Order: sequence, then structure tokens, then C-alpha cells
Amino acid sequence: MSDVTTPRKRLFIRTWGCQMNVYDSTRMADVLAPLGYAPTEQQEEADMVILNTCHIREKASEKVFSDLGRLRELKQEKAKAGQQMVVAVAGCVAQAEGAEITRRAPWVDIVMGPQTYHRLPEMVARASRAAGAQIDTDFPVDQKFDHLPEVSAEQGPIAFLTIQEGCDKFCSFCVVPYTRGAEYSRPVAHILAEAKRMVAGGTREIALLGQNVNAYHGEAPDGSTWGLARLLYELAEIPGLARLRYTTSHPRDMDDALIQAHGKIPSLMPFLHLPVQSGSDRVLQAMNRGHKADAFRRIAEKLREARPDLALSSDFIVGHPGEKEQDHQETMSLVRDVGFALAYSFKYSARPGTPAAGQPFQVPEAEKDARLAELQALLRQQQDEFNRSVVGREIDLLVTGPGRHPGQIAGRSPWLQPVHVMAPGFTPEPGTMLRVRLAEAFPNSLSATLLSEELACA
Ligand code: SF4
Repeated sequence: MSDVTTPRKRLFIRTWGCQMNVYDSTRMADVLAPLGYAPTEQQEEADMVILNTCHIREKASEKVFSDLGRLRELKQEKAKAGQQMVVAVAGCVAQAEGAEITRRAPWVDIVMGPQTYHRLPEMVARASRAAGAQIDTDFPVDQKFDHLPEVSAEQGPIAFLTIQEGCDKFCSFCVVPYTRGAEYSRPVAHILAEAKRMVAGGTREIALLGQNVNAYHGEAPDGSTWGLARLLYELAEIPGLARLRYTTSHPRDMDDALIQAHGKIPSLMPFLHLPVQSGSDRVLQAMNRGHKADAFRRIAEKLREARPDLALSSDFIVGHPGEKEQDHQETMSLVRDVGFALAYSFKYSARPGTPAAGQPFQVPEAEKDARLAELQALLRQQQDEFNRSVVGREIDLLVTGPGRHPGQIAGRSPWLQPVHVMAPGFTPEPGTMLRVRLAEAFPNSLSATLLSEELACA
């Protein structure tokens, strides 16, 4: 009898896009491990290649097709040597463009949407036998979570835990409601059990994931429904779990209970990613965001009243159809009013199938470029100011591993900044908490000096 736990085959997964995709890639590896697939970093030696795709950014699907072209050659070479290679496309491009993938790349064996990964073993078995692609892009999201195996025990000191998937908000520019389906929240008991397993495996910081994470409304053990705030209070009770975060949130779902939780849960880190997209009410309405710019300002104020050291990051889209210079200046003014420690800003690009793609009054590229440059200069300045503002502060540093230079330790600050500490001869385990003083700010990281080799209080 063969031992199915012994890895015999190599699995290469290439992941694009958000943390949800990173998490899903881990889960796909978990699902395939009992079939004897072990991860490899070398695509050439893989028996199975999964491209876990993202549909958000411009040209994402073209990058997938260009990768698939290279994989065709690799697959042909392997076939000549009598070897098989299974090629799978997963993620949001697979969901949105499944038929196009099988038409343009008939050598693809499996096309699967984000809600069907639990059926991967079955699809792999069928693909190994059958000719023609296996396509599975249904939306049985509840089944996905029920049928995936438990997460691998050891995920490192910082790990993600998906608590919610999908979105019902239908922002004009976004494909998520079409590719990930309606909002679904995992039951509380499943989340708590997974979090406890992660902590037992050495995880000290958990980031709760969801496309609309603060719309979370999961079933509690007593049959009631818990929102995200209630879930956070419960997770904060897990011994050994030093830090909590959640991403990505929508301003519409920042209720008072959640805002107050930031002041009441010490392990809830003082850094929140809260996309606003625009500072113009006219554009926010065109985007179907369901909130106004001043509502966002008030949320930011209330969050900082609850937790004075809280820093915000955000997402911005510049040049949405119909955006005028006045709208752009309103975005600049919101950025000045709120102040962001970090931000991701992009030019609007039409995603096929989304409402905004067909709207009139598309903004010329040159105007988008100019507005983006102006916005990014201000955001960069704010990021630099924020990083400089924390210099001199004593913080608990969560060690993630050795730094790039000999004698250096790398870790994360409460505000998610990468921090490095020179401490030759001292090699704390990943997951250790160190007391440090932030010493110098660089464009994308900080240095610190070690204050204590003792474990800081979690
Ligand atoms: S809230 Fe809007 S941007 Fe966020 S996932 Fe839903 S549709 Fe997309």
C-alpha cells in the first residue's frame, strides 16, 4: 500500500494580487498535500502548476496568458520526456474569464473559481485521466470552507485567517462581486478553532481577512449573529495571541461597536486599512460607494478618539469616469484633512464587465497621470512624516526572522512597518516580542535599538 503522506510530486503555485489570494494558495497547497504534492520554488520541476490570478489590476489577464504560453512549452518538453504536468488556473481571472482561458489556452487542465478549491483533488484526479479542461467556477462558498482541511499548523509568527468572503456592494470599478460572489461569513466556532490552532503552531499575530471584513456577520455558537467587534473581543482572549488586525474594511461597515473596540482591545493593533477611493461626493456616488467624504472624516476622527495612536492607510482611484479637476482637488483636501501613514493609489482602469467600464466621460490618460503624480507626492510626504513621527518611541517589536545583514533582526512594528535591529550574537526565534526604541526612519522601513532581550508583555 502506498503511503499517501510521502511527497512524490512537486507543486508550484504562482500567486498574484491580494492577501486573500495568498491565503487561498496556502489552502490549495494544504488540500493537495494528502495527494502527495509538496511545494517547490522551481516551476520547471513541477508536476502541477497553479496560477492563482487577480483580476483587479490592468493587464492582469494578459500576464496570465503570457505565463500560460511559457507553460505550454514546458508541458510539451515534459511530455516528450514521458512526464505529465497538470496546469491549473485559479482565482478571479479564472472566475471571470474561464471560457476564454480554455479557448485561448486549451493545454490548461483545470480552471477553477475561488469558491471551489476544496474540489481540487477531484479535479486533479479527473485532469490526470481526461482530455479537456475541468472547469469549476460555481459559488458554493459555504461548502468551500466546510470542506477545506484544517490550516497547516505552522504558518509563522504573522498569519492570515479568512473569516469572510465575497461582496454585495458592487462598486462601479470592481469585479469582486462578480468573481467572489455574495458576502459569506464563516461561523464563529470555526474561526476560533482555526485561530487557536494557529497560535498553538507559533503564530503571534493574526490578520483577519475578508473582501469586506467588517461586514462580518457570522453565526455564533448560541445561534445568534456576531459582528466583527464581538469576534475580535473573543479572539483577543486567546492566550499567546499578541496581535490582531483585520483587512479590508469598507467605511460603510465601520460601526460604533467596531470603532470602540479599537480603544478597548489592546492587542488590536493601531493601524487600519480603510479604503476611501475618492474625496469627492460626486465621484463617490458614481463609484456606488454608499458614503460621503465627510462621513469618512468623521470615522477617522472617532477612531483616533478611541485609539489616539491609530494610523490609517487607504486606497485611492484617480480618474474614475466623470472625475473633474475639482473632484481631484477634493480628494487632495481629504488626504490633507485625514492624514495617512500609508496608501495605495492607482489610475482608474476599466475592468471588463464592471459598470464603470462602459460609462461615458472617461478621463484622458495624461490627466490621470498628472493627478496621480500630485496625489502620490502628497501621500509619500505623509508616509515619510508618519515614519519620522514614531522615531524615539519605545515599542514591542514582533520578530519575523533574521534581517538581510549579519547580526540584524527583522520584525514588524504595531503600525506594520518593517523594522530592523542590529544585535550581533542575539538570534531570537521568530515570534519573539522585543522591547525596542525606534531610531531612524527610511523610506519604507525603520531601524531600532534593542532595549530588552526579555519577552515583552503580550
Ligand atoms: S466594497 Fe467595492 S471595492 Fe470592495 S470588494 Fe466590494 S465591490 Fe469591490
